[in-house]
Amino acid sequence: MAYRSLNPFTERTVRTCDEHTAAEVEAKIAKADALFRSDWSRGPIKARLAVLEALAGLLTDNRDVLATAMAEEMGKPLAQGQGEIDLCAGIAAYYADKAAEFLKPQPYDTDLGEAWTEFHPIGVLLAVEPWNFPIYQLIRVVAPAIAVGNPVLFKHASIVPHCAALFEDLVMQAGAPDGCVTNLYISSDTVSELIGDDRIQGVALTGSEGAGSKVASRASEMLKKSTLELGGSDVFVVLDDADIEKAVAAGVEGRLSNAGQVCTGSKRFIVQKAVAEAFIDGFVEGMKSAVMGDPMDPETVLGPLSSEDALKDLTGQVEEALSHGAKALTGGKPSDRTGFFYEPTVLVDITPDNPAYYQEFFGPVAQVFVVDDDDAVVAQANDSHFGLGGSIFSGNIDRARKLASRIETGMVFVNSTTTSMPELPFGGIKRSGFGRELGDVGIKEFVNRKLVVISEGKAASTVG
Ligand code: NAP
Repeated sequence: MAYRSLNPFTERTVRTCDEHTAAEVEAKIAKADALFRSDWSRGPIKARLAVLEALAGLLTDNRDVLATAMAEEMGKPLAQGQGEIDLCAGIAAYYADKAAEFLKPQPYDTDLGEAWTEFHPIGVLLAVEPWNFPIYQLIRVVAPAIAVGNPVLFKHASIVPHCAALFEDLVMQAGAPDGCVTNLYISSDTVSELIGDDRIQGVALTGSEGAGSKVASRASEMLKKSTLELGGSDVFVVLDDADIEKAVAAGVEGRLSNAGQVCTGSKRFIVQKAVAEAFIDGFVEGMKSAVMGDPMDPETVLGPLSSEDALKDLTGQVEEALSHGAKALTGGKPSDRTGFFYEPTVLVDITPDNPAYYQEFFGPVAQVFVVDDDDAVVAQANDSHFGLGGSIFSGNIDRARKLASRIETGMVFVNSTTTSMPELPFGGIKRSGFGRELGDVGIKEFVNRKLVVISEGKAASTVG
């Protein structure tokens, strides 16, 4: 796909960017690889953490510039973009503060003598990232990589080239050496070629199942480590003892934030019968009354979808769901206005034979299921190909805790929507991918955990 910023609110092209030539790409890989072989990557962590600290400050200083670029390129309402940048600054600051401790050698008890693992960089990483959180998706990979000493080449989504360039520039302003973090305007075919390059040692992809499957198969063919953060169809469970007003407000926010284009957005609402009417009435009302409009207007809650293709895909999915027996309690079609807007939509009566039942709706479309008891909640929640996050709303924490451990996902939040914090490991199971980003776990996805043993001369047989 060609790199192009097209404002989804005005439907006008703002800029186009040429792809990097093969010679430019080669020069960028060579620079990144040279950095990996230098003292910067292998020497003391202090210099790398200073970059992260400076980057945290620069992200905060450039909050409005970055939030405006996101609004312009993919339609995120300004306040939501500003919130994203605050989180990104928090992630940079978190690793600046904690990485040295996470990467300290870890001792092991053994009869052989003294033993420990050290954490070393493995080489240049390739990050392939989506447009929905244009800066957060990058910082999740880049911040731990800088701390570890792995240079990163990134291929951002082709609809957010300006966000990609702004991010690269801020990392350089933070004092990173050449080759530390490099923006590539390249095609999917070039991604595949790069994974075959010996200088690239790992690939992290966030995006769709299709792209994840292609990139991970190529990585496994070339015997490279990969992590995948893919789609989700997160449950939002409302138990019969929940605070309904709180659940309604959270449900509307969880479904409409970023125009519903969030991997961990609340997508499947599973509501117990006793509170179904109260929840559904409030939820439909909340969805209907969301303020739709210009992402640059501070009052806007619901902006346009990111692109015309996104609008076409969602429209087709809902039409198919309705033609297979689903009913729309509100919405069900694109909004009749300029811009790629879709009406907030609530679907019920989705049976397992409806294609919608197992699909992710990447837009402001909620699926609602009414069930009886806690076992039915678990059965409905786990009847999904995805396993990213999920929420449970309940007034009884013990009950919610038990259910949380029975839901097959990488993350469950009680009495809040699924969210992301620098210190909390983020990731999923099943078709939502593998590996974790953020926290103490995320920083160790792309490291050489090198074992060193100082033998005290005790006998050991040779194995392996
Ligand atoms: P996408 O089409 O898979 O795009 C993601 C990135 O992959 C883009 O940079 C894209 O480049 C690239 N790409 C696409 N096909 C590729 C291929 N065959 N080889 C190499 N790279 C390829 O994803 P999307 O549909 O825009 O994003 C939405 C999906 O991402 C949703 O399913 C969502 O749930 C998921 N997501 C997951 C997380 C998470 O953390 N789990 C977070 C956000 C989004 P182009 O733009 O040039 O096509």
